[in-house]
Amino acid sequence: MAEGEYKVNAADVNVLGCFIGGEWVVPDDAKLIEVKNPADGSTIAFVPRGNKEEIDAAVKKAQAAFSSAEWKSLQPYKRGKLLYQIAELIRNNKDEFARLETMDVGKPYAQSEMDVEIAARYFEFYAGAADKILGETIPVDAGIIDYTVREPLGIVGHIIPWNYPLQIAARSIAISIATGNAAVLKPAEDTPLTTLKLVEIIEPIGLPKGIINVITGYGHEAGAALSSHPGIHHITFTGSVETGKRVMESAAQNIVPVTLELGGKSPNIVFADCNEENAMEWVMRSIVQNAGQTCSAGSRLVIEKTIKNDFVRKLAAKMESLSIGPGVDNHDLGPVLSKKQFERIQGFIELAREDGITIVTGGKRATIKGCESGYYMQPTILDHVPQAHHLAQEEIFGPVLTVTTFETEEEAIEIANGTPYGLVAGVWTENTSSAHRVANELQCGQVFINHYGAGGGIAQPFGGYKKSGFGREKGLEAIRNYTQVKNIALKY
Ligand code: NAD
Repeated sequence: MAEGEYKVNAADVNVLGCFIGGEWVVPDDAKLIEVKNPADGSTIAFVPRGNKEEIDAAVKKAQAAFSSAEWKSLQPYKRGKLLYQIAELIRNNKDEFARLETMDVGKPYAQSEMDVEIAARYFEFYAGAADKILGETIPVDAGIIDYTVREPLGIVGHIIPWNYPLQIAARSIAISIATGNAAVLKPAEDTPLTTLKLVEIIEPIGLPKGIINVITGYGHEAGAALSSHPGIHHITFTGSVETGKRVMESAAQNIVPVTLELGGKSPNIVFADCNEENAMEWVMRSIVQNAGQTCSAGSRLVIEKTIKNDFVRKLAAKMESLSIGPGVDNHDLGPVLSKKQFERIQGFIELAREDGITIVTGGKRATIKGCESGYYMQPTILDHVPQAHHLAQEEIFGPVLTVTTFETEEEAIEIANGTPYGLVAGVWTENTSSAHRVANELQCGQVFINHYGAGGGIAQPFGGYKKSGFGREKGLEAIRNYTQVKNIALKY
C-alpha cells in the first residue's frame, strides 16, 4: 500500500489515536501512518494521519481548557506538584519508555534510558520553577507603584523532531504546564510513540482536559496546519532549516512568535596541549551518539596541525572498535532512522569519494546478520576536508566526522565560525586563558570546555546563533519564550 492509504480496520495491528481534549481519537475514516522499527524495518504501530480538522479540534479544546476557571485557579505551586508527579510516573515506566524509544528511533537502549531520565528531570526542573515566575517593581514617578507580571501566552504549538522525541516532548509539556499555557504537540511522523505514551501516563493525574493535546501526522499536513493556525500564540519548532523557514513564514501571517531550534555543524576545537584521552573520548562520543543524529553533534574536528595525524589515527582505531547493531541489544551504534536518512548520508559519502576526500575509516553500510533491512552505517572520518566544501558546511546528520586543521588560535576560531550554523562548540586545551579567549569569540549558543554534553543540560539555556535558530529552550531562560510581560502602573 502507498503512504497514507492504510485504513483503521484491523484488530491485529496496534492502532494508536490522537489525544484531543483528554480523549483518544481515531476517526472512523482515518488514514494511517505506518511506524517502523529502523533496526529491521518491521512495522510496530499505526497512528492517525491527522490534518487540519484534528489540529483545529485540538486548538479549540486547548482554548477552552486554557480559559477554564479550573485551570486559571490552579495555583502555580499546584501545577508544580503535578509536574513532580509526572516525573515519578516517567521513572516508574522507565523500561517501557526506553524500549519504545529504541524501537521507534533505533538508538541503543542505554541512550534511550538516559533520555527517559532527562525527560523526568525536565518535569522536576520546571516543577520547581512553576511558582518562581516573578515580576519586577520599577521605580517611576512619586505616587505610582509600577510592576510587571509574567502571564502565559495561551495556546502553544510544539513541532517535535524524530531524533529525541521523548526528551523534546517532555521539555515541551513540562514548560507549558509550569508557565500556565495549554499545548498542542505534533510529533514527527516517524517517531510518535513515546509522545503518545507520555500523555497516556499523564492522563490519570487530573490535568484539565485539553491542556495537553497530541496530533500525529505528516509535517506538510498536521505540522503546517498547526504552525499556520490563527488560534496559536507561540510555536516551538525543532528540525531542519528549510522547514524552520516555512514554520516562521506561516507564523508570521498570524504575528505569532516562534522559537526555532534548527541544525548545527558544531566544531570540536582540539589544541595540541589538550588532555588527549579525554578529548578523543568526547570527540568520538559527540559524533556517534544516536548515530550522529543529534542537532548538537560534534560533527567537525578542527584540530591543531601538529597533532592531527596521530590523533586521527588513534580516533579511527577507537571508532573501528565500536559495536554496531540493534538498539535493543545495546550496541554502541544503532541504525539511522530510515531509508531516507540513510540515503542522505550515503549521498554525502559519495560526494567525498567524487571529490577525492580521504575516507580514513567507515563510509559503508554495516550489514547486521538477521537485520538486513535495517539502516546501519559505519562511523566515518573524512580527512582533508576543505573549509568551503559542502561536507564541512552542511549538516550530514549521521555518524560522519570531518577533519580540518589549524595552525593558530585565530585560524581555529575562523574555521569554527565559518559555517552558516552556530549551535554548540567544544574547546579542548589545558590553557585556560586560551579556552576563554576562544569561547568569547565563538559564534554559537553553547560552548563546552574540556567536556561535551548538550543533551543532558536541563538547567542550561540551549539554542542557536545564525542559522541554528533563535530563542532558547531549557533552563529558566526558556520561560521567557512561554510568557509575556504586562506592566501595570497604579497611582495612589
Ligand atoms: P523536518 O524539519 O522536515 O521535520 C521536523 C518536524 O517538522 C517533524 O515533526 C515534521 O513532521 C515537521 N514538519 C515537516 N514539514 C513541516 C511543515 N511544512 N510545517 C510544519 N511542520 C513540518 O526534518 P526531517 O525531514 O525529518 O529531517 C531532515 C533534516 O533535518 C535532518 O537530516 C537534519 O539535518 C535536520 N533535523 C534536525 C533536527 C534537530 O534536532 N535540529 C531534528 C530533526 C531533523
